[in-house]
Amino acid sequence: MYDVIVVGGGPSGATAAEVLARAGRNVAMLDRDGRIKPCGGAIPPRLISDFDIPSSQIVARIRTARMISPTQRAVDIHIENGFVGMVDRDKFDEFLRLRAVGHGADRLTGTYLRLERSADGLAMVYREKLSGEEKRLTTRLVIGADGARSNVARTEVPGGDKIPYVIAYHEIIKAPAANASYDPQRCDVVYDGKISPDFYGWIFPHGDSASVGMGTGIDGVDLKQATADLRASAGLSGCETIRREGAPIPLRPMDRWDNGRDVVLAGDAAGVVAPSSGEGIYYAMVGGQVAARAALACLASGRSSELRLARKYFMKEHKTVFKVLRSMQDAYYKSDERRERFVSLCHDIDVQKLTFEAYMNKKLVSARPLAHIKIGIKNVAHLLGLVRPEHV
Ligand SMILES: Cc1cc2nc3c(=O)[nH]c(=O)nc-3n(C[C@H](O)[C@H](O)[C@H](O)COP(=O)(O)OP(=O)(O)OC[C@H]3O[C@@H](n4cnc5c(N)ncnc54)[C@H](O)[C@@H]3O)c2cc1C
Repeated sequence: MYDVIVVGGGPSGATAAEVLARAGRNVAMLDRDGRIKPCGGAIPPRLISDFDIPSSQIVARIRTARMISPTQRAVDIHIENGFVGMVDRDKFDEFLRLRAVGHGADRLTGTYLRLERSADGLAMVYREKLSGEEKRLTTRLVIGADGARSNVARTEVPGGDKIPYVIAYHEIIKAPAANASYDPQRCDVVYDGKISPDFYGWIFPHGDSASVGMGTGIDGVDLKQATADLRASAGLSGCETIRREGAPIPLRPMDRWDNGRDVVLAGDAAGVVAPSSGEGIYYAMVGGQVAARAALACLASGRSSELRLARKYFMKEHKTVFKVLRSMQDAYYKSDERRERFVSLCHDIDVQKLTFEAYMNKKLVSARPLAHIKIGIKNVAHLLGLVRPEHV
């Protein structure tokens, strides 16, 4: 019997499996394998240091973020003392899985089917990829880390079937040589209703390739056309397209991450992606960590209530950032006039410092004394329409 079976071997599942294996627990990690997770692959320095990511995984180091408004006004935010890292998810996820296995986790390859409960306890049933056969493994606990639209969440945890999503689509293209409009060390973030009426578009360099895409939660938006338009406006139409792919990004953390008995969720399965940015890799890895810690507490005490600790640990550290990002998205992603105002705010050096500190180090600290008050006043002035949308 396993102590824990982790369903999903993405950043959240592989991290949970590693933490449990390091703690000496008998853990298995199931992944269906064979599909690269569609993802822009941008990660903050805090992730690189907290989770000990070797530099060999970083395929590009981003030094500037360019915010582009609906009127094509560009604000360059230079990243001081550091960089945003870019990872390729096929290699990054495999690195994390191998690390978990290196610490003693068993690796299973196949598709999760269901959980069964009987007199001999809890069992996880899956279809093994190699044999095509149904297999049944007993375990004390399950961590559901099977990503957005998680089957574990949907069937085992109240609310798991009601997570709202945006659909994100991107194209992996062969990167052009650096030129006047393409800089391999710069991310472009495009706030323009023609590209996305409720989220944003992006161009993320990855060394030899680049991810160009957008997200939206609005039905009927033609994601492929929007991405073609984005490529055209950035002079990237002629670049070879390597892959086209899309996937949901959850919009709101669930109110409960466990079933009060023997299952706890982590990462996208629990709906945990930062509002405004759609950043999910760091939060998935933290989610895997806290789910594993909650599972360890539950295994040690025998109390199922300990599983609740996962959400509690996570929210203690990240609730405020999520709240601020949620209000930002609600206030500024609703019209081109608001998007214009948002990019105007980005001219402010304190806004830049505050936003980047929050992204890079996951901390809300003021750039200068009184910066918060000044930013608050500017925010109110924009939201009440007391100043012009365009920065002057
Ligand atoms: C287009 C796009 C761009 C994005 N860009 C960024 C970005 O630049 N930076 C960022 O931080 N975040 C980004 N995100 C979000 C980020 O990709 C996710 O938040 C993150 O991957 C979540 O990790 P996870 O481990 O929870 O889930 P996943 O990475 O989805 O991993 C889930 C794993 O479970 C496995 N699985 C699923 N179902 C089953 C099953 N039935 N049986 C067995 N295994 C199963 C899958 O194979 C997968 O390996 C982006 C998302 C999208 C869609």
